[in-house]
Amino acid sequence: MFVYADHAATTRMLPIAVQAYTKTADLIFGNPSSLHTVGQRAQELLTSCREEVAAILGASPREIYFTSGGSESDNQALLSAAYAGAKKGKKKIVSTAIEHHAVLHTLKKLEKEGFEIVLLPVGESGIVSADDARRAIDRDTALVSVMLANNEIGTIQPVREIAEICKACGVPLHTDAVQAVGHIPVNVNELGCDYLALSAHKFGGPKGTGVLYARTGAPLSPLIEGGAQERNKRAGTEDLPSIAGMVAALKASVADMDASCAHLRKLQRKLIEGIEARISHCSLNGDRANRLPGNVSFCFEGVEGEALLLYLDDEGICASSGSACTSGSLDPSHVLLAIGRVHDVAHGSLRLTLGAENTEEEVDYLLEKIPYVVQKVRSFSPVWRDLQEGKRKFIL
Ligand SMILES: *Cc1c(COP(=O)(O)O)cnc(C)c1O
Repeated sequence: MFVYADHAATTRMLPIAVQAYTKTADLIFGNPSSLHTVGQRAQELLTSCREEVAAILGASPREIYFTSGGSESDNQALLSAAYAGAKKGKKKIVSTAIEHHAVLHTLKKLEKEGFEIVLLPVGESGIVSADDARRAIDRDTALVSVMLANNEIGTIQPVREIAEICKACGVPLHTDAVQAVGHIPVNVNELGCDYLALSAHKFGGPKGTGVLYARTGAPLSPLIEGGAQERNKRAGTEDLPSIAGMVAALKASVADMDASCAHLRKLQRKLIEGIEARISHCSLNGDRANRLPGNVSFCFEGVEGEALLLYLDDEGICASSGSACTSGSLDPSHVLLAIGRVHDVAHGSLRLTLGAENTEEEVDYLLEKIPYVVQKVRSFSPVWRDLQEGKRKFIL
């Protein structure tokens, strides 16, 4: 059997998105900036794509900017708001310890430029506290950035409450909603955010394309200089096939959301309970209830995450350990450290992220193979041997 359980890393394009992509590439090949008929057809499609994204997010089309994906959208939102704040003497930025590297590394760069970065803790549950945010945000704050849903442990953050605090202090709020859009309801006005980043390939669209929502009046400066595309905020000829593919995937994901969420919740519960019943010394990462419907993340004691992934791959199972960006490096995931996992335990993590096309039979297969592979990896782990011989104490 083959089971793809790594949907937080990327998704396969939905057939309807492939169709929209290829149809656009084939037939609507014009440059939207060209004045002739072929260009104008492309311009019309671009306009309708923008309107459809805006309608789904509860935004105005003028607040939608097409970008190359989540990373670019995060970078542009953070840098725009930070530099606008600095002009008014505000050099503090409040964010969380569990953001994606697209946010954390941009904040690192801003820190080197003299900004003060405050990363709020998340505690064991992996959820930031709105009260901690309230204490950290003040009138010197240039920007707050809190992700809507975490990519590793799936926890959903109280963005709406934090938005109210930001509003009261007149501070702009950015949310990285890359893992949320297409999976849980997302509306910019209900959230109250000023910036929002989304990425097509996390909900069945093509890679290398995404959206930055920037509320009217929120500062926005271009990362890429050149032509006047995207109302002078993002130069470069628009990737219309990808944009059309993204919009098709977004519409389909949102239309199917209730059904796929119910399906995923059922699989999620079965997988979590099955792992807990079959494997000793393991612990679920993140909050049990307040998490994305497809996310299952565990730490196993006496297990090396990389070995676990390789043996699972031999069984036809695609999963991940930590985030795709940190795997391959020896640093344990900053998210797992932030929820209080010690290094050894954080190294033994497994993230299974299910998608709507995963079946109950596939979950049965996961529940057959994962305990077998964990046992195999433990059988040659010196840490596991020490735990068995009492030379080390179990933590989980
Ligand atoms: C995948 C991801 C990103 C990066 O998106 P890309 O489109 O791959 O650049 C940013 N934030 C989160 C939470 C993600 O999961």
